[in-house]
Amino acid sequence: MLSVDEALEMVLAGIERLTIESIPIQEARGRVLAGDVTSAQDLPPFDNSAMDGYAVIAANIQQPPVTLTIVEDIPAGKAPQKTLQSGQAARIMTGAPLPPGADSIVPVELTGVDRHSDIAPDVVEIFQAVERGAYVRPVGEDIQQGEIVLSAGHLLRPADIGVLAGLGYSSVEVVRRPRVGILSTGDELLLPDQPLTPGKIRDMNTFTITALVEEYGGEPVPLGIARDTEQSVRDHLNRAIEESCDLILSSAGVSVGAFDVVKTVLEEMGAVNFWKVNMRPGKPLTHGYVNGIPFLGLPGNPVSSMVSFEVFARPVIRKMLGLDWGMQTRTVRVGETLRSDGRMTFARVKLVEEAGDLVAYTTGTQSSGAISSMVKADGLLIIPAGVTEIKPGDRLAVRPFFFDA
Ligand code: AMP
Ligand code: MG
Repeated sequence: MLSVDEALEMVLAGIERLTIESIPIQEARGRVLAGDVTSAQDLPPFDNSAMDGYAVIAANIQQPPVTLTIVEDIPAGKAPQKTLQSGQAARIMTGAPLPPGADSIVPVELTGVDRHSDIAPDVVEIFQAVERGAYVRPVGEDIQQGEIVLSAGHLLRPADIGVLAGLGYSSVEVVRRPRVGILSTGDELLLPDQPLTPGKIRDMNTFTITALVEEYGGEPVPLGIARDTEQSVRDHLNRAIEESCDLILSSAGVSVGAFDVVKTVLEEMGAVNFWKVNMRPGKPLTHGYVNGIPFLGLPGNPVSSMVSFEVFARPVIRKMLGLDWGMQTRTVRVGETLRSDGRMTFARVKLVEEAGDLVAYTTGTQSSGAISSMVKADGLLIIPAGVTEIKPGDRLAVRPFFFDA
């Protein structure tokens, strides 16, 4: 049987970064920048005041107290009209341009002027000297023209959207989000708002997988629930082709049960690459292509499908986005005895801080059908292939939910 690493290599073969699109910056949070952003201007674009106060020539006020004549009032947004001469000052507000001739700001607190008056006074008494350049934010202090501000491949965060706006970009080029078709299969599946009838359960995988696709930067394309017939699976996969999906994720119908028809239809509509991986949970995993579209047939059990998504679908989405796809983990101490059948195992664990160390404890039943084991978990503890017993105090890698995307 294929190891997880061998299977992942096969899944990722041929996956390339998707094309680029231009989008409004308001929609760019969490998207991947396609190219470097170079600043076409200085930020701030002009010398300006960091305080409400008075623009002065520092050499004029070295022996306080000193009285200066006010020649201009400069609120934020106004261009100064006068050049300061010796003995003169301008009232200035935070963010307003420094008038020509001035080299420093005296904050209003260091003067004899009431800061709340509407009209600028005729004179200002300065009580304290400031150094040349005091409280001035020089042009280009933040960002200089020609500087690379954001690099290609960067995942855009709120501050990045701000800098794009500040530099005059209303749109930005990003990598297109992979369109991920999501299909659940099974005659037993109901929608959340349908009443339970004998033998039926509600479809959970559509919802966990949709949320995971969004979490990792894909665009979910709902394909609905296929029934356990070849025709129903065929019809739903045809929708994925019509919807121009970049990746198709189905769940269930891939084990060896009498009604597991996904593999048969996949063979007919494209190709089956493999259908088993040596891991737990998640052994029944089908990989192939539907009309050339990469296809992952995730297992039906809700925990298995989420773990298989994490191990195989997430890297595909990340690679399509041009991002590192390696699984970020951290090493923790295991708090209890654990046994494994020697398959690579992903145990659902809670992480508890004990004496400055993170310690992992399994979250109740580890049945691959028990969604509660995921709900209670902080991450997946990875027991490597070939290891059958873990003792308290052993150190292992854990994949926290959801770490660095
Ligand atoms: P299968 O691979 O079709 O044999 O399904 C394995 C198990 O997963 C069965 O117990 C199914 O009822 C369950 N299952 C399949 N699909 C879903 C789903 N979308 N939501 C919740 N459970 C499911
Ligand atoms: Mg089934």
